[in-house]
Amino acid sequence: MMTLTTPKIWSATLDSSAKRNVWTAMKRGFTCRCPNCGEGKMFRAFLKTADHCDKCGQDFSAHRADDLPAYLVIVIVGHIVVPIALWIETNYSPSVALQLAIYLPITLIASLLLLQPVKGAVVGLQWAFRMHGFGDGPAD
Ligand SMILES: [Zn+2]
Repeated sequence: MMTLTTPKIWSATLDSSAKRNVWTAMKRGFTCRCPNCGEGKMFRAFLKTADHCDKCGQDFSAHRADDLPAYLVIVIVGHIVVPIALWIETNYSPSVALQLAIYLPITLIASLLLLQPVKGAVVGLQWAFRMHGFGDGPAD
């Protein structure tokens, strides 16, 4: 005997799960914590996310941060270092060697310091918007 079953089709209206706060998730991600619980660690290495949260079990393998954190860090650091360099150049005109000795390390250190928090914020954003595999529906 053949039985008919309704196919399970996911849609936004069927998503009855709780709304996720974007800013809270991004803030938790920026502090390298799980966007879901805010307690577990998001990273197992400098830029490697953990497989899952060690407190609540949230799966992090679904994130697709790719190169966005690096682009955002370039924009942020560029908007800090370049105006300072231009201001110093127009007012004091120090030698190029001195400027390179100051700006290059500052750029490198600021970029390295911001890269992990910005990646955490991007993963938190993806989690809050249920992007990729972070939603309750099928991964896309
Ligand atoms: Zn968690």
